[in-house]
Amino acid sequence: MNSRQYTEVAMAQGSSIWQVDTDTAPARPGPNAATVPLKWAHDSRTGEPRYIHDPEITEGSAECQCPACNLSLTPVLAGQPLRRNPTAHFRHPKGAQKDDCTLVAARLAAIRHLKERGFIDLPRRRMSASATGFSGQGYEGWAETGEERISIVSAVLHDHATALLTLPDGRELIVDLTGQRDAGSDGHGRAIVTLSLSDPAIAMMSPDEIRARLRLLPDIRWCAHWNDQALHAAASAQARQTAHDAMDAWGEADEALFHRDLPPDLAPSIAQQWRRETLLHSEVKAILEQASQITTPGLDVEVTRYAPDEFSGEWEDNTLRIQWMTASATLPLENTQLEQRQGSIVPDVICTLREPRPYIYGFTETWLDGAFEELIEDTHSSQQWPRTVLIEVTVTHGIDQEKLRRIRELNLPTLEIDIGSLGGRVTREGLRHLVVNETVGKRWIHHPTWRLRRQILEAELDQHPVTVRFQERLAELRRPRLLATPASEWGLIYLAAATEFHDANTRIDKARRTHIGEGAAPVLLGKDSEPWLRLMEAAEALAAHGFPGAADPEMVGIAGIISRLLSIQHNRGVGYAFDTGYQVLNAITQSGPGYQQWHTLYPMAVKAYGLEARFTPKQAERYASWRQGIIDKVDAGDETHLRPARYDAVLGILFPDMAPRLAKGYGRSLQSR
Ligand SMILES: [Zn+2]
Repeated sequence: MNSRQYTEVAMAQGSSIWQVDTDTAPARPGPNAATVPLKWAHDSRTGEPRYIHDPEITEGSAECQCPACNLSLTPVLAGQPLRRNPTAHFRHPKGAQKDDCTLVAARLAAIRHLKERGFIDLPRRRMSASATGFSGQGYEGWAETGEERISIVSAVLHDHATALLTLPDGRELIVDLTGQRDAGSDGHGRAIVTLSLSDPAIAMMSPDEIRARLRLLPDIRWCAHWNDQALHAAASAQARQTAHDAMDAWGEADEALFHRDLPPDLAPSIAQQWRRETLLHSEVKAILEQASQITTPGLDVEVTRYAPDEFSGEWEDNTLRIQWMTASATLPLENTQLEQRQGSIVPDVICTLREPRPYIYGFTETWLDGAFEELIEDTHSSQQWPRTVLIEVTVTHGIDQEKLRRIRELNLPTLEIDIGSLGGRVTREGLRHLVVNETVGKRWIHHPTWRLRRQILEAELDQHPVTVRFQERLAELRRPRLLATPASEWGLIYLAAATEFHDANTRIDKARRTHIGEGAAPVLLGKDSEPWLRLMEAAEALAAHGFPGAADPEMVGIAGIISRLLSIQHNRGVGYAFDTGYQVLNAITQSGPGYQQWHTLYPMAVKAYGLEARFTPKQAERYASWRQGIIDKVDAGDETHLRPARYDAVLGILFPDMAPRLAKGYGRSLQSR
């Protein structure tokens, strides 16, 4: 775009610019400053700008000087506006006129125009400021005053490059006439604008010509505004508010509170991360407190079983899958609080459910070889939602293994809300919707019902016809090998495995009780442990030999018949954390009604293994009394103390010293086979 076009465009937009006619600008060089006829001068007495045809000049009543070089000027042809070649002008002493004289005279003329007009149009003043959130994200704020036409009571050329305007209320405005001043204050609180007034041609224009050309001032730009401090403060406040609204900054009170608990020497970046998490956690808490409910995703437990290896390629290759699920649930909340966990200042949210707490209902689907078999809905539920639900708010990191372990140990329903699922900038409304209504972005990390449901699903699969058929077939395959070893030998294997299993768990249980510190607590041996599997194989072998029942919970469970008889036999606790057989016997005397039907077995064992010889007189007395109580019940035919016969045969194999007494059938229930 050439300058001609620029002028036209600017005019068309209703503005005007400070520019002389550039019709032929490309062809004709601009006026030579040294030869421009100088028509403006300073009145030496008043300092007022004077035009060559002003009355004071034509009457010869004013002394004039150059506004730039301060030399005296001589009016030539003053008051003769029609004269050309030469035209009226102020003359420097011979040869003294410099480029600068013309430029400053032009500025002087423009200032007089401004003063005569009596006002100046100031553009809007806009200031921006930024704030950085805890997340590192920047937030912008801005404030502005509008465009303003202000009156001018005086306008004087301050020096060659600046003018000083005085407003009716006494405020001052410095006008930089070079157009090049940098933004910033002068340290005196004065407002400063800059506009480019550097066209020497103005120096030879009449007031009318100047008025015609310069209807408005050219581009005017703020360097400093009277209200800058207030504007900056407003812009900063807005930036901080924007960060605050994005939940990425907090106020001084929160900071003071946070700072109180901050460990010394914490890396600043970690501290920022903690601030952000702490802030989001309290937002989530506040949201839940206000909403008094939370939508949670469904629970889901799945167990898959493949055909035993023994059958691969030989028999059926069935895959069983069973899955228990619930719909998503909206939980009513009574209370929410922030947890201040020891060793960590990052709190989680703890929710307490409002009574009556909902029951957990789901449905179970069974699939055989990928084909749907059946769906069974829970018709009743004995499981209420636990009173406490934990919420883990994750921002970027998820949950590490150590935290997961602690959550599992607490065994409370724990829901993760992933703020990262919101993507990008977090808003209060977005967070509220996520926390209260969404199931996306939420995940159950742990739920106490999982373990129970898994056990139920495992039991269901155990009873599934496919599993039963597999087990029967496997038992058939094992049978010849089991029968190849005599029952008495399996009995020894069985008792050794039972002793090993119970002893190990007694030791582990003791270690768990005394366990402290961060590491994982030791875990009890389970049904997949080697001694247990050996125990079960021996029980199966005994059954194959015609002595069933050795795998039953009454026999091998905690405080079962086997651990009690072993304790009496060896005069030490087996499956009991006791030192002597008497201590175990003492525990047996206190066992509940369900166990009393087996009580006749223990005096037989005491007799068979000579435990009485180890009693103190006092113990012997108490034992005799307990034993007499059993005899009385048996004599009275009290069924609570009469023993089902089903384990007598296998006990006779396992404890041969008891066999003769068992064979007599004393204390055996007549109702049992
Ligand atoms: Zn001069």
